[in-house]
Amino acid sequence: MSQDSYFEKVRAQFPALTQKVHGKDWVYLDSAATTLKPESVSQRIYNFNKYEVSNVHRGAHTIADKATVNYENARQAVAEFINAKSQDEIVFVRGTTEAINLAAHSYARNVLKEGDEVLLTEMEHHGNIVPWQLAAEEKKAKVLAAKVLDNGELDMADFRAKLSPKTKIVAVTACSNVLGTVNDISTIVKEAHKVGAKVLVDAAQIVSQEAVDVQAWDCDFLAFSGHKLFAPFGIGVLYGKKELLDQMPPYQGGGSMITNVSFEKTTFNDVPFRFEAGTPNVGGAIALHAAIDFVKSIGFDKIKAHKKALLQAATEGISKIPNVRIIGTAANKGPILSFVVEGAHHSDIGQILDQQGIAVRAGHHCTQPLMKRFGITGTVRASFSVYNNMQDVESFVKAVKKAQELFQ
Ligand code: PLP
Repeated sequence: MSQDSYFEKVRAQFPALTQKVHGKDWVYLDSAATTLKPESVSQRIYNFNKYEVSNVHRGAHTIADKATVNYENARQAVAEFINAKSQDEIVFVRGTTEAINLAAHSYARNVLKEGDEVLLTEMEHHGNIVPWQLAAEEKKAKVLAAKVLDNGELDMADFRAKLSPKTKIVAVTACSNVLGTVNDISTIVKEAHKVGAKVLVDAAQIVSQEAVDVQAWDCDFLAFSGHKLFAPFGIGVLYGKKELLDQMPPYQGGGSMITNVSFEKTTFNDVPFRFEAGTPNVGGAIALHAAIDFVKSIGFDKIKAHKKALLQAATEGISKIPNVRIIGTAANKGPILSFVVEGAHHSDIGQILDQQGIAVRAGHHCTQPLMKRFGITGTVRASFSVYNNMQDVESFVKAVKKAQELFQ
């Protein structure tokens, strides 16, 4: 079967794509914001809600036991998916943002001292900036950001120059949600470890693009959201090396995260349960398991090749349109294409594309420091996933050309 016909079968698993928007076939190019959900994931959450709903860990009945087993199996599936050493290193949270807040709250606030530094990069999402600022401010530590080069690659010389024994934490995205730049995480981790810093990888964009191996990277923490990996909203993961999670105090207090509560002294549960106070998103975790199975059923070799072909075709098409400037031309890019049309506001272009049934994102993409770095207020961003095809790319390029002409 050719690659194209294989992916037409994949596309058929996404009923959302059969709808019309403004009377046109819907072209969904906003997967960096959230992915559509395949039938298998929708069915899994439906069946859970219909037949399997029970709370986990405390039940004294068969269906509760089943929910607990499925919830813990999901943890195991995530551990295997990112090659963690054990499922104890997997904490279920709401998403990337909560995962980073957890690490900043429980790890950073515990280790940072006055004068210490947290090193980020100029391409970070606000979700990987603000939690560190909050922790650093409280501890009188400093937040620094390594520069981004004009082509959107990380300036590794600046990164190295800003690393020092004062650096206690490096937090970096594996793939920029605006530039598409894929960073060299192995090198970043090696350099950071040389000065004794711990590394958190923001994997929000990379998890749907390529196999993540936390042991190969040797990163200390990693965060991602299920909803960018074909799973529902409200479920995400913080991975942490067991020895680090073991040292960290609770993030939130409540049920499930304790071993014993008295008014005199409360003792806390082991990891990962210590960080999962209250009733977790059981259905979300189980659906995340189904989403991982969906990704595995295709395999990252095929996924990467398909997205690369789409990105290449879209980049070529957009490059031929006059007065369009692509923001982010790194050699190693994920399937994300950001651009500005000279003389037109990004929101106007977004609206014109929407009228053609084409869904993109327009704005600062929660990366205001990066916008400042490029001297712009926003971009139009198209992002591609397994369910897109060359017809989508053609419609998109045609629509951008038409929009650009309106502003000349
Ligand atoms: N980091 C990156 C690189 C992202 O693209 C996003 C979302 O767009 C986030 C963090 C925040 O993810 P969430 O809103 O799912 O917590």
